[in-house]
Amino acid sequence: MDGYNHDTNNMINNDIIYMKKALQLAKEARDNGEVPVGAVIVKDDKIIGIGKNSRETDKNALAHAEIIAIEKACENIGSWRLDGCTLYVTLEPCPMCAGAIINSRITRLVFGSFDEKAGSCGSVINLLDCPFNHRPVVTYGVLKEECSEILSSFFNNLRIKDKNRGGDDFLNIGR
Ligand code: ZN
Repeated sequence: MDGYNHDTNNMINNDIIYMKKALQLAKEARDNGEVPVGAVIVKDDKIIGIGKNSRETDKNALAHAEIIAIEKACENIGSWRLDGCTLYVTLEPCPMCAGAIINSRITRLVFGSFDEKAGSCGSVINLLDCPFNHRPVVTYGVLKEECSEILSSFFNNLRIKDKNRGGDDFLNIGR
């Protein structure tokens, strides 16, 4: 089975509900001063792991929403294999998270908005469409306006703050 689908129309039943939950986690990240990204892992219609970007709070380059959600899901089911699981994330995964998705054998990835700077599921590169030993099914564009809005307003606010303090290096925070 190739299992790869570029379409947004392979959206299924509760995709919007779970993406809303991921958005809620992204908002919590934002309220902690983090780049707003949230992730939820679902198996058999039950949430088994959640994560929000905590890179600044944890002072940890690995503390992306997806990695935290994967850790919790593995803990929860007592296995590193997340067969039959769907990962919902508000932003297209970076290379590290795309690798973690492959290594944890997540069956399906659903993401909201594209990340042209670091996205590794179609934007900069598509690691999920390479001949690795596992290829998740991908759906993108679920609630994409909301998912990209929360990021652009976060960065706009940073720009305003930066202007007010007269600096111009502050924006160089990456993500
Ligand atoms: Zn990542």
